[in-house]
Amino acid sequence: MDKRNIIAGNWKMYKTPKETEDFIKEITPKVSKARALVYIAPPFVCLPAALRAKPGSNFLIGAQNMHDELEGAFTGEISIKMLKSMNVDFVILGHSERRHVFKEDDAFINRKVLTAIKENLQLILCIGETLEQRENNQTDEVLESQILKGLKNVTPQDMENVILAYEPVWAIGTGKTATPQMAETAHCHIRKLLIKHFDKNIANQTNILYGGSVKPQNVSDLLNQENIEGVLVGGASLDVNSFAEIVNKG
Ligand code: PEP
Repeated sequence: MDKRNIIAGNWKMYKTPKETEDFIKEITPKVSKARALVYIAPPFVCLPAALRAKPGSNFLIGAQNMHDELEGAFTGEISIKMLKSMNVDFVILGHSERRHVFKEDDAFINRKVLTAIKENLQLILCIGETLEQRENNQTDEVLESQILKGLKNVTPQDMENVILAYEPVWAIGTGKTATPQMAETAHCHIRKLLIKHFDKNIANQTNILYGGSVKPQNVSDLLNQENIEGVLVGGASLDVNSFAEIVNKG
C-alpha cells in the first residue's frame, strides 16, 4: 500500500484565533481533493479556534510544543493533559527553534517524546544539523545522536505514533533549501538508522518529512525523492494560497 505524504504547517508565533479560523475555513475547499494528510500546528491560544473550524476538513490540528510533566509549577508551559483535553491530534517536539533559541536539550526532548507516547499522542520529532556541523562533515553523526537520544527507550511498537522531520537548521526560515539530493541523502541516512535501531518494517512505516524553506516552487522536486514522505512548512504555510498549492502537490 502506498504511504500517504504528510504536509504539515508550523505557524510558529503567527496568527490570532480569528485569523486561524478564517484561514482554515478558506483553505478547506481549496484542498478538498488532496491526497496528502494535512497537519496544522497553530500557536497554543489558536488551538480552540482551529479545532472549531476543523469539522468539514480532513486536517489534523496539533501543538508546536509541550512540557514533559502532566502538571506542575512550570510558569508559561503547557502540558499534554491540557492538549489532550482539547482533543489535539499531534504535537511537534524538538523543533530547531526550541533547541537553539530556547536551549532545549536532547534529554528534555526525549522526556517529552516518552510522555507523548505514554499518553498516546502522535508526535513529530524534528532533527537536523547546523551550518557549522554540516561544514565540519558532522551531519550524519548529529542525526544519529539526535535520533538515539531523542528516541531513547522508545520501543518498535511506539514508533507507530512517531513521525520524523529532517530540518537542517541552516535552511529554516532562511530561504535556503537543501537541494532535493542533499535532503534525500540525509533521509536515506535516517532510514538506515531506523533499520539499525529498530528494524526494516519500522523504518519503512515511519514518515520522514523534510523541512526548511519549502515553497510551492520546490515541493514537488523534494517529494519526488524516494525517502521523502512529506514536508514541514513554516513561512509558506501562513498564506492560504501557497499552503493550498503545497498541499495539492502532496
Ligand atoms: C519550520 O518552521 O519548521 C520551517 C521549516 O520553517 P520555514 O519553512 O519557514 O523554513
